[in-house]
Amino acid sequence: MLTLAISKGRIYQDTMPLLASAGIVPTEDPEKSRKLIIPTNRADVQFLVIRATDVPTYVEYGAADLGIAGKDVLVEYGADGLYEPLDLGIARCRLMTAARVGFQPTGRRLRVATKYVHTAQRYFARQGRQAEIIKLYGSMELAPLVGLADCIVDLVDTGNTLKANGLEPRELIMNVSSRLVVNKAAMKMKHQAVSRFISDLGGIVSRQANLSE
Ligand code: AMP
Repeated sequence: MLTLAISKGRIYQDTMPLLASAGIVPTEDPEKSRKLIIPTNRADVQFLVIRATDVPTYVEYGAADLGIAGKDVLVEYGADGLYEPLDLGIARCRLMTAARVGFQPTGRRLRVATKYVHTAQRYFARQGRQAEIIKLYGSMELAPLVGLADCIVDLVDTGNTLKANGLEPRELIMNVSSRLVVNKAAMKMKHQAVSRFISDLGGIVSRQANLSE
């Protein structure tokens, strides 16, 4: 049995067509079902439907053999304990700093609101900039509007969410796409099944990339 950890939402929607091309189709729609373990048409493959930020944890500890997670989540988690064999090229976006339109930083320590605490800390430290990082769990865009922070670090796709809140993107921290991650022990113990999964999915991803060029 291969167990794949995946989160609902954009990553799930973008991943399902890839898995369908590899002949793997869930028997239930997790967006509608309350089940957390979703069987597939293949008796040897099941999905765990969990929060995006929990995917690296399930895979590192071997509760899932494989997982699909955004590069943002993996960098924040510090996913050294995982193999990352494949960039799926889906759910693309950018991790950026953003501030109120026209905001000019003063000399004092920058206050930064984000759920990406470690990534933000590393980013500002690497630049030798003093930053106080404030951990939030959502709606980061609000923080600069009410004086909680000078700027935020968050994912940006179209930029519409920032714009709707009077914010503008400033500095690119990293480009993000979803990656396939693999538990290190599963890579050895289930070598044949795991490497087949990687090469099937890899073939589909590179065919799609060629088509869209
Ligand atoms: P947008 O308004 O298109 O720039 O999208 C920004 C909002 O969507 C922010 O709340 C982001 O956290 C979220 N978002 C954008 N892209 C992604 C992605 N690939 N994965 C998860 N959340 C995303």
